[in-house]
Amino acid sequence: MNKSAIHSSLQKGFIMEIDLISLVKTKGFEHFADKFGTESQCHELLFQLRWPDGFRCPSCGCAKHCTLKTRPLYQCNHCHRQQSLISGTIFQGTKLPLKDWFKAAYFLAHQKKLSALSLMHELKVSYDTARRVKRKLIKQHQLTTEKAKTAHRVNHLPIITTPL
Ligand SMILES: [Zn+2]
Repeated sequence: MNKSAIHSSLQKGFIMEIDLISLVKTKGFEHFADKFGTESQCHELLFQLRWPDGFRCPSCGCAKHCTLKTRPLYQCNHCHRQQSLISGTIFQGTKLPLKDWFKAAYFLAHQKKLSALSLMHELKVSYDTARRVKRKLIKQHQLTTEKAKTAHRVNHLPIITTPL
């Protein structure tokens, strides 16, 4: 990676790749609904993934924050920067509740060939929304699977040691 590439990736800021399809693959729907059935459960999971050691302001590093009731926003008590829970993730810019994304991922995890039309009925959303959600979830899942395969191949390459 050259220096300008590093710069541009820094400029883009925080990116978190979440393979939701693999993440929500539980045994049965009841089990899934127990874990991710409510919006706050989905928020909680995303928070844990994003800030495993607790919230940190990306500007000043302050841990003290408050949450905004109306949107999933966290505001730093020190510099007042607002940080969205979903920025830099596949959910960025979405109006769809997180629990619907999770539900879509669950269905896709169990029925790989699920059509956008069926998803539309399951989520009670427009066809466009269903298609967009499906595309994003599948794309991230494929990317992650591909990366895992590559890592696996690299890890299993025969190690050739050359004597000094
Ligand atoms: Zn701050």
